[in-house]
Amino acid sequence: MSELEFFGHIVDGVEVESLDGTRFDVWNPWKREVWAQAAEGSAADAARAVESSRRAFDEGDWPRLGRVERAKAIHKLADLMEARTDDLARLDSTNMAKPFEQAKHDVARSVWNFRFFADHQRDHCGEVYPMDSGHHTYSEFGPAGVVAAISPWNFPLMMASWKIAPAIAWGNTCIIKPSEDTPASVTLLGRLGAEAGLPPGVLNVLNGHGAPAGAALTADDRVDRVTFTGSSVTGKYVMASAATHLAPVSLELGGKGANLVFEDADLDNAVYWAVEAIFRNAGQICLAGSRLFVQDSIYDEFLARFVAAAEALTIGDPFDPATRFSSLASRRHFDKVSSYVTQAAELGGRIRTGGVATDGSWVVRPTIIDGLALDAAPYCEEIFGPVCVVNRFSTEEEAVHLANDTRYGLNAMLFTENLSRAHRVASNLRAGTVWVNCFFIRDLRTPFGGVGDSGVGREGGNFSREFFTEPKAVVMQIRR
Ligand code: NAD
Repeated sequence: MSELEFFGHIVDGVEVESLDGTRFDVWNPWKREVWAQAAEGSAADAARAVESSRRAFDEGDWPRLGRVERAKAIHKLADLMEARTDDLARLDSTNMAKPFEQAKHDVARSVWNFRFFADHQRDHCGEVYPMDSGHHTYSEFGPAGVVAAISPWNFPLMMASWKIAPAIAWGNTCIIKPSEDTPASVTLLGRLGAEAGLPPGVLNVLNGHGAPAGAALTADDRVDRVTFTGSSVTGKYVMASAATHLAPVSLELGGKGANLVFEDADLDNAVYWAVEAIFRNAGQICLAGSRLFVQDSIYDEFLARFVAAAEALTIGDPFDPATRFSSLASRRHFDKVSSYVTQAAELGGRIRTGGVATDGSWVVRPTIIDGLALDAAPYCEEIFGPVCVVNRFSTEEEAVHLANDTRYGLNAMLFTENLSRAHRVASNLRAGTVWVNCFFIRDLRTPFGGVGDSGVGREGGNFSREFFTEPKAVVMQIRR
């Protein structure tokens, strides 16, 4: 057997084993084989990482460095990432079967996360509040302290960078714990942080499982902020744990996004985005358009075109340039998604296309189901895979009602050429982001987050500034 790659923790800029030397296996889900090992973080490893970041914050240069110097250092890291695009993308593709071209796109977006937040903090302004009493007050945004960031496996590098970038840009020090399923790219990012000259402890990487590693981080009272992306169930544990030491949390959780297609939509455009929204990344996207609602008069035509487009996706090896769709990210996840497909059929759902591959691979083919009852589990719960449940509606009011009838509220999409309807429906949808005639387009200045079980708080632009800083009011007397 060829020698396995190893991904350690990064502490004080150095890659290290766990204190007790324990490792765990890292899988290649397309090949269904172990291809690497990673350090298995214990509570003691978490404490070591926090201690390092605490020291870097309390005694180090980083929080006190000027905003221009900090921006320069972060741009240097972004330069190194850009130069290593193929390596970073290779790790995500190997680790979770993401098609290589999509993984490269994710690297570009990750690089942009760093560049955006470096510049955003460099160029930010506080506010001045003139007062009639002979005083004036101004605001300052100082770093909050040590940030614990915990990320999922579906966009391993991109989700981590979305947290690390604003955290360190605003002068905090950060410990990132990637998912145990995908430790590779984030560990390389940690190595690049050291190469870019980030001071020791500014960016630590803690590998390992949710418990004990992640749980030990959130419970540590030396941590000042917890930013978490993952499932709604885990989010509740994270929030409860952070509450024991009153650390503010930002939670980006699950979704069951509604996609509304009205009869006056541009159907080519709507079909294109409906496919992207549920089959890109094999549907392993929190923002997936997993509940599709189509107006009666175009239902049959739309469904036929949607099914044809899904069947045209090339399924295969993530490194084959023709591949648009590959296996699910792990055996555990394949079992979960498969069980929803089986259950949907048992509950009377019509599988219009797709289903579980029977070749022993961890592929669930692009799957479209209609005819499910509104309380069926595959209709209500987040499947987090390439499974779209489809339903019809007759009026705008009914469409909005169906879309909002969920515990989640991360995002929604709507397709119409009627301007007034677009604004009306967008305004009535209960969701953190609404896309009109498009999907997955982000401007990093805008709020991002979810309603209900989809999360707590918003990040992006000034919303990230509010979370990752301690805003302060300074009141000055003006002598007359
Ligand atoms: P998960 O909740 O199982 O794990 C997420 C992370 O939390 C992992 O790093 C895991 O090790 C860690 N973790 C697990 N238990 C923990 C605990 N008790 N304390 C601290 N950390 C713990 O989620 P997942 O399966 O990795 O990711 C899929 C989920 O993430 C889906 O629900 C998806 O919708 C959601 N997600 C949301 C967004 C968003 O922006 N809202 C983005 C991507 C993914």
